[in-house]
Amino acid sequence: MTKKWMNGSCLCGEITYQVKDISERLSNCHCKMCRKFHGAAYATYAAVTPENFNFLSGETLIAAYQAPNGTTRKFCPNCGTSLFFESATGSNDHVYFALSTLDAAAAIKPSAHIFTKYKADWSFVDDGLPCYEEERGSSLYTKKAASD
Ligand SMILES: [Zn+2]
Ligand SMILES: [Zn+2]
Repeated sequence: MTKKWMNGSCLCGEITYQVKDISERLSNCHCKMCRKFHGAAYATYAAVTPENFNFLSGETLIAAYQAPNGTTRKFCPNCGTSLFFESATGSNDHVYFALSTLDAAAAIKPSAHIFTKYKADWSFVDDGLPCYEEERGSSLYTKKAASD
């Protein structure tokens, strides 16, 4: 469905990349680390296999932060754009990139919300997608009663 190369970039345009064949298994992640790193209600990381990812410019500029849980988040040191995520195991089966850094809309949509147990109180999820308390497949999030 996304067989054509699509370009992505950071806000200042120093770091550019191209991807194709984006995995259908896309989630909006509400965990605290994603929220902090993106400065937003949730993060949407998409995955491609390494042969479907190329840097076009700026690869050597990329800065990285390793969180206490061993995951690594990569960003542009010039403009601060959140770009990539690497799991703690260092598995390179997939390249995870922030979907919003694509230059044009991908014909692909998230199919779940994950880690909703940690979502911001001011963030309301009502798009009908399954909301997992933790990772995909964990128990479903149920709204707390107002008295909680
Ligand atoms: Zn930048
Ligand atoms: Zn997350």
